[in-house]
Amino acid sequence: MTNINRELVDGKFCVLHFDQGGSGANVFNLDTLAELDWHLEAIAKDHSIQGLVLISDKDRIFHAGADLTALQTMTEAELGRFIARGQEVFSHLAALRMPKVAAIHGACLGGGCEMALACDYRIATADRATKIGLPETKLGILPAWGGSTRLPRLVGVIRALDIILAGKTPAAKQALRHGLIDAIAPREILLSAALRVLTKVIPPRRLSWQRRLLPDRLIALVMGPIVRRKVVRETHGHYPAVTKAAEVVLASTRCSEKESLAHERRAVACLARGDVSRNLLGLFFLSERIRKPEGAKLAALERAAVIGAGVMGSGIAQWLASRGVRVILRDINTPAVAAGLERIRKLFSNRRVFSDKEARDGCDRIAPTTQLVPFDHVDIVIEAAVEKMDAKKKIFAQLDGQAVNPSTILATNTSALSLNEIAGATKNPARVIGIHFFNPVHKMQLVEVITAPQTDSETVRRAVQFARQIGKLPVVVKDSPGFLVNRILVPYLLEAVLLFENGASATNIDEAMLDFGMPMGPLRLIDEVGVDIAADVAATLAARFSDRLRVPEILSKMTSSGWLGRKSGRGFYVYSGKKKVLANRELAALCHGRNDAALDRRELQLRMSLLIVNEAARCVGERIATGPEMVDFAMVMGAGFAPFRGGPLRYAETFGLRRVVDELDRLSVVAGPRYVRCDQLEELAAEGRGFYEN
Ligand code: NAD
Repeated sequence: MTNINRELVDGKFCVLHFDQGGSGANVFNLDTLAELDWHLEAIAKDHSIQGLVLISDKDRIFHAGADLTALQTMTEAELGRFIARGQEVFSHLAALRMPKVAAIHGACLGGGCEMALACDYRIATADRATKIGLPETKLGILPAWGGSTRLPRLVGVIRALDIILAGKTPAAKQALRHGLIDAIAPREILLSAALRVLTKVIPPRRLSWQRRLLPDRLIALVMGPIVRRKVVRETHGHYPAVTKAAEVVLASTRCSEKESLAHERRAVACLARGDVSRNLLGLFFLSERIRKPEGAKLAALERAAVIGAGVMGSGIAQWLASRGVRVILRDINTPAVAAGLERIRKLFSNRRVFSDKEARDGCDRIAPTTQLVPFDHVDIVIEAAVEKMDAKKKIFAQLDGQAVNPSTILATNTSALSLNEIAGATKNPARVIGIHFFNPVHKMQLVEVITAPQTDSETVRRAVQFARQIGKLPVVVKDSPGFLVNRILVPYLLEAVLLFENGASATNIDEAMLDFGMPMGPLRLIDEVGVDIAADVAATLAARFSDRLRVPEILSKMTSSGWLGRKSGRGFYVYSGKKKVLANRELAALCHGRNDAALDRRELQLRMSLLIVNEAARCVGERIATGPEMVDFAMVMGAGFAPFRGGPLRYAETFGLRRVVDELDRLSVVAGPRYVRCDQLEELAAEGRGFYEN
C-alpha cells in the first residue's frame, strides 16, 4: 500500500503527497519511515530536482507523527531502533541539497512537526484544523526525532522551552508569532504558495539582533537554574518528561546536532519505560477510542432547547451554538436570561477562539425566551434548571404538553438527583437520559451520559453520538447518587472539610493534595464550585450513603454567613481580587477541634486519596461504569485526578492493593468507620489480583 505519492512539477520541483492508505491520519511506523526514506533517496539522486514540497492530501491532518500504539507493544530494543530510524530519515531530509518546504494544513503534531522542522521553510493555513507543535511531554515522553534539537536552533531556547515543556500545539497565527512557521496561506493556494517559495532563493536564516547579542548558550546558562526550579514548582516532580525535556533542550545549545540527537534518544528510551508515560498514553488512547464513532452513523442533531439560563444552561447553550446547533434558551425570569446571554456573549468574544463572524453566527443561533414555546422542531431538550427535584419534575411533566417531537431526547444536566425519579414525571420515560456536563462547559471535555433502567438503547446511542458530535468525551454511567465523578469526589471533599474542622490548616490540606498531583486543593475547589452548591450535592449523597458520609456542620454555617466561596468573595479563602489568596482566618471560630492540626502531609494525602480509591473501587463493584479504565478516565477528565497516576484505580495498583487495604484498616481505627474498606478491594487484595491485571 502506498502512503506517499511523488509528483514532479515543472520538471524541477518535487511534491511528496502524504496520504496514508486505509487511515484517516498520516502516521510514522517503520514502514512509512522506510517509504519516506526511499523517496528521499530517489530525490537526492535526481539532479534535475531543485526543490521539494511536503504536503498532505488528508482533510484535517498534515501529519500526526509517530504511531503511538506501536510504542506500547515495542520492546526496549525495538523502540531504540524506531527512534534512531526516525532521526536518521529526518536527518536525510534536512541534508538534501535543495530547498525544502512543509506546506501544512491540518494537525502537524509530534513527529509531523519534527519532519516540518527538518525543512527550510514552513507555510501553513489559518484553518481551525491547523495546529502545529510538539505535545510529547503531555504523553510522558519528549520530542526525540530532532524536535528538542532543531526547535531551539530555529526559535531560540526560551521559546523552544515554552513550547516543548508545556506540549503546546498553537494555531497558525500563534505559530507564526513563535517563529514555528514562516508564512500563512489560504488552503486553496497552499501548494502553489509553497512552490512559489521554491522559485525564490530562501535566504539563510539570520538570527535576530537579540539572539546575536545574547547567544542561546549564554541564555541557557543563566536561565537553566530558573527553568529547573520552575519545572519542580509546577510539576511537583511528578512529570519526569518535562524535567528531561528541559535538560535536553538546554543542553542542545552547547553541543553539536549529533550529540543533541543522542541526548534525545537516551532520554526517550528511559521515559517510555516508566509508569508515567504508560499512564498518560493509556489515557490518551482511551480518549481517542471514546472520540471515535461506533456503529452505524446517525443523523446529527441540529436543534436543541436548553431549559435554565444559569451558569450551566448558558454554558451549554454557548457550546452547542459554537458547534453549529440552533438553541432555544428558556428561563423563567428575564434577568436570568439577560445574565445568561451576557455570559454567552463574553465567551464568544474570545478572539483567540472565534473570529468576528463565528462569534456573530454563534450568538445568532441562540433564541432566548421566557415563554413555554413549542419544542416540536427540537431534536434534544437539555434541562439545566435549579438542582431541586420538584422543579425538575415540573419541567419534565410540562414537556408532555409542549408539542415535543416523538423522537426528541429529553436530557437533564442534574448533578446528583435520581434520573429514575425525574423520568417518572413524564409520559416518555424511555427518552429521558442524563447528560451531565462539567463546569466550565467550554473547558471540560468529559460528559457523563446517565442511563436509568427505563432509558431505551436508541436514546443512549443518540445521546452518546450527540456528545461526540459536539466534541465532548462521553462516558456512559448508571443512574446512582452523584453518578460517577461526583460520587467519588464528594467523600474526598468532605474529608478535606472534616480535617479542616478538626484543626488542620486550609493551606496544609490544599498543599498536600497539590503535592499529590491534583490541579487544585480540595478546599479551594469547594470555593470555586460554591460552598452552598457543594453542600447541596453532598447532602444528596449523604442521604443515600449515610453509613459513610456526613456533611460537616461548618458548611451550613458558612452558607448561612454568606461565605459561599469565590462568588461571594469569601469561603475557605478570601478573594480580594489579588492573585494570591489568603486563608479565611475568621473560620477558626467555627472549627471545633485540634486533633488533626499536627497531621503531616503524607497522612493528609492518605486520608483524602484513599477515600477516593475506596469509592472508585465500590463503583467498579457496582458496575456504575463499563470498566475500571472508564472510572479512571472520568476521574482524570472530570475531577482532574492526578493524570500522571492514571486515575485512582491505577494509583491504587501502583501503591499496592494490599497496602491500600492495610492503610484503610488503620484509618478506620484512628479516623472513623468511613474508612472501612469496600468488598471489591478486599477481594482483589486477598486474591492478589488488580483492577486491570487479573
Ligand atoms: P443556576 O442557579 O446558575 O441556574 C439555574 C437557572 O434555572 C436559573 O437561571 C433559574 O432562573 C432557572 N430556572 C429555575 N426554574 C426554572 C424553570 N422551571 N424553567 C426554566 N428555568 C428555570 O444553576 P447551575 O449551576 O447552572 O445548575 C443548573 C443545573 O446543572 C443543576 O441541576 C446543577 O446541579 C447542574 N450542574 C451544575 C454544575 C455547576 O458546577 N454549577 C455542574 C454540573 C451540573
